[in-house]
Amino acid sequence: MNFQLWGRKCLDILWPPICAHCRRGLSSSVSGTLCHSCRAQLIPLEAPFCLRCADVSNLVSALCVSCRNKKFACRLIRAAFLYRGPIHSWVYSFKYRGRFPAAQEAGRLMARNWARFRELPPPDILVSVPLHFRRENERGYNQAEILARAISKETGIPVLSPLIRVRETQAQWKLDKKSRQRNIAGAFKVARPGDVLGRRIVLIDDVCTTGFSLEACAEALKERGAIDVCAYAFAREI
Ligand SMILES: [Zn+2]
Ligand SMILES: [Zn+2]
Repeated sequence: MNFQLWGRKCLDILWPPICAHCRRGLSSSVSGTLCHSCRAQLIPLEAPFCLRCADVSNLVSALCVSCRNKKFACRLIRAAFLYRGPIHSWVYSFKYRGRFPAAQEAGRLMARNWARFRELPPPDILVSVPLHFRRENERGYNQAEILARAISKETGIPVLSPLIRVRETQAQWKLDKKSRQRNIAGAFKVARPGDVLGRRIVLIDDVCTTGFSLEACAEALKERGAIDVCAYAFAREI
């Protein structure tokens, strides 16, 4: 038994691992964030959904009400799962409880689910949605970057970090839809234009709610010469 494995076994005895959702103890055969039964309740994003933003509500033929007759910098949004049920606890565990291995596991799952979306071909680079440096310092990491790095490890697609968040914004979930758009507009800037010019990019984020953050990132990337910007999230709120 190597030292790392031995260390983990000791920690497991002191603090037995529990499911992030139902809080039941995880059996030794389960290495992950959720128990078998909670994991089985995850709902994959499946058609029918809006062909642009993957919203499954308010569909008007192929597009939803928000996407009809509009142009977007972020051409396409997809997600591995719907943001319903136990996935809330999974996201909470890496976003607010400091469990970054839960984000690595989520990233691996995103990589495996990517193949279901043929309309989202592998890009030149992956770019994570940045946090403001103050929030990243508080949390100790950017969860979207951990997702991107885990996907990169599985797929070989490189990760670059050309974007920065130039102003602190309020947490989007605290705001209504109109305020969310105002809150996030112009919040991102490309700090390294050389990483972006002529590149096809997929933005990576944990949860897509309205798509406004993704759109603001995509606008900044397109302004600096990205030729195509799409997005892929762990979960899609509907
Ligand atoms: Zn459970
Ligand atoms: Zn839509």
